Amino acid sequence: MAYLKKSPWLLHYDASSCNGCDIEVLACLTPLYDVERFGIINTGNPKHADVFVITGGINELNRKVVKNIYEQIPDPKVVVAVGICACSGGVFRECYNMAGGVDQVIPVDVYVPGCAARPESIIDGIVKALGILEEKREEMKEKEKQHGN
Ligand code: SF4
Repeated sequence: MAYLKKSPWLLHYDASSCNGCDIEVLACLTPLYDVERFGIINTGNPKHADVFVITGGINELNRKVVKNIYEQIPDPKVVVAVGICACSGGVFRECYNMAGGVDQVIPVDVYVPGCAARPESIIDGIVKALGILEEKREEMKEKEKQHGN
């Protein structure tokens, strides 16, 4: 796992999930998995978040909301699609109002499949996302140096 100078905070949004994946995301915070001991906190404020965790696919009602939340999260940031609905639209992908997975509206860094995704897979996905976040942080620092900021 990448070395991190800051505790990663995540924002969890239920796009159109059946709640199955959301229960598993919350299980990661309970004493059994207890990700808070690694400094990972579930925040409600996009401006404080580094990791955007989304469950459920994109439909016509949440398309703008997902984009809006994403834009409020400061750079660098990473997006984790949790569950097959968030990855591709899953069993709902043929529905009349579904656009598909989260990558239909914002870039996704890590896909965590499963229906529902298991807590172990979610934690594994977050750890992968933290490595990507650190790479993005380094790239930003390099760009700032090149532009003399
Ligand atoms: S992947 Fe399965 S459990 Fe998760 S939101 Fe979709 S239908 Fe529900």
